[in-house]
Amino acid sequence: MRLGSTFSSARTVDSMEAQVVGYVKKDEMFPGLVDAFIAACRTGLPVHRRPGHSTFSGAHTGTTVDVLAQRRRLQEGVILEARKKIKNAIRREIEVEDDDETAELYRGAAAEAREELRSARAALAQIEADAKVPTTTGPFDALTHVIVPAMARLKMSGGVLSQEEVQALEAIIPSFSMELRSGKWWAIATVRINTVEGVADLGPFEWAISGRARGTARVAAQLDTVPDVGAASRRRLFGDLVRSGRVTEDAATILRNAPFVQLPYLVLHSVRGEELPQWMGEEWREPRFVSWIVSIYTDPKFRWMNNGMYATVSYSRQFAATFAAKQEEFTVSDLAECAPIPRASAYHQMTRPSSTKYSKIRPFEPTLELVGVLPTGIHRHVMRGCKCVCGQVASIVTHVPEVPRDLLCDCGRMLDTERFGLDAAVRFPEEYKLLRLPFDECVDELTDRVAAQRDVPGAVGRRLMLLSDLLEDGATDLRIATALGGKGTSQSTLLGKLEQFGWLRRSDTRPAIWTYTDEGRAQAARFAADG
Ligand SMILES: [Zn+2]
Repeated sequence: MRLGSTFSSARTVDSMEAQVVGYVKKDEMFPGLVDAFIAACRTGLPVHRRPGHSTFSGAHTGTTVDVLAQRRRLQEGVILEARKKIKNAIRREIEVEDDDETAELYRGAAAEAREELRSARAALAQIEADAKVPTTTGPFDALTHVIVPAMARLKMSGGVLSQEEVQALEAIIPSFSMELRSGKWWAIATVRINTVEGVADLGPFEWAISGRARGTARVAAQLDTVPDVGAASRRRLFGDLVRSGRVTEDAATILRNAPFVQLPYLVLHSVRGEELPQWMGEEWREPRFVSWIVSIYTDPKFRWMNNGMYATVSYSRQFAATFAAKQEEFTVSDLAECAPIPRASAYHQMTRPSSTKYSKIRPFEPTLELVGVLPTGIHRHVMRGCKCVCGQVASIVTHVPEVPRDLLCDCGRMLDTERFGLDAAVRFPEEYKLLRLPFDECVDELTDRVAAQRDVPGAVGRRLMLLSDLLEDGATDLRIATALGGKGTSQSTLLGKLEQFGWLRRSDTRPAIWTYTDEGRAQAARFAADG
């Protein structure tokens, strides 16, 4: 993949040529490249001189940098492992809630894993600090008058570059590619620099781009049982659909990009009388299902996400729906036991139609129902999943044109068929179940998100965490707010956030009493040490 082509496909949708598989945020891609390049230079990266492709072996850098990278990888592995252990221990503890002795065992295991996590994080911080010591470049002299201004320009570009700039950058970034690895996009690049003795390529180095893939690419990665008909067939399907005059260009674009390649064939079958392909399963040929699909995609007022994407995914909704399928009724606190939550109110938004930046076309339909509102705060409100007529909780969250209720049941039914004018007898084919994201991946994503938020606790949050006299013995909202120079419940949002971080614990009393958790106490000590 060339840099220029990547850049343009990230900006525009070429309706005839490219199949859109996902989007990356362009304003994160180039600064990300610069940051990754700087980090790689600090810890070491392969250098190839050209011509001859011989690996550069510096007298000093060769060994030092490799050791650093290795040490970092080791600690990152420990962190990953510890997180997994904590998660499993908490889950087991919930499962054996009636058996105090066993639960205590799991609590102990979780505490032990938290300790491992803490020391690995500290070790990693030490490695980062070591890496900041400037290393000599040895006998390797780079001519920096091109690379430094180019990198600065990339970092400042905000992703917007002229065609000339892109061409110029291709000279210094000879290779660039992107890969989807377990739901996350990674970019891999090399950088070419001039040296006093000629040209050298640095890298490859890699970096993660804008979190997980959220759209069609993530869904497609899951659909290994759906045949791939290839880009040429998809182009032909698109052309035939548009020429039929029954399908708008927008609808044809979505059909071409849909990972369920059955969909465009169903619509073509209906509007042009074409034979259905041999490989299409029985469930897809069911007449009432076919007529539903056709009615959606031949609607002259068809509107969907204008970026050409077939699907968006929601990790938090899928997490909540899967949880709801396992446990009849629960609170936000119960959910938070299983995965940290970015915002407590997020789960409440799921009980009513809500618009997000990923659902511009129509609001996301409710994933949960509110059962009871208690006066003790948002964390204690009781919720449950949405039930299908078959009695099961509908737990397949999906946001695609033909599922306007955004929820499917394992029995194949969509919820609330009547409201959307869908024949109650329609069952979605088995493949739609593959739209459900794995529970562990949802938990990991939510964990990552909260961890990212944790990095910026804010000045008031730090001051609050340092109120050790109050937080060791326990204090009310009012006392904490007063100590910070405010009044009443002015700090309740912040307190809730620190609770989500796992740093503070709130009592079930009214008013609630706040105390440190073990992790919070350790965090406060770190804040105190930082000054
Ligand atoms: Zn059902």
